[in-house]
Amino acid sequence: AKNDGIRTSMKYKDTPEGDKKCTDCNLFVPGASPTAPGGCKVFPNDTEISPNGYCIAWAKKA
Ligand code: SF4
Repeated sequence: AKNDGIRTSMKYKDTPEGDKKCTDCNLFVPGASPTAPGGCKVFPNDTEISPNGYCIAWAKKA
């Protein structure tokens, strides 16, 4: 499922922003494999976050 409301407010997109992408974000919840869609701690009930996506809440993985 996708959470369109928060996707819009966070300006989510399915492509990276330069070298910033979900897989390198502290808030990403990985899926079943490194290339599978996952979740995000600030996107409730969204299970289709791309590892190569990006939004304005991006925070470098510690
Ligand atoms: Fe991706 Fe944004 Fe979630 Fe980080 S906060 S994992 S950039 S959707």
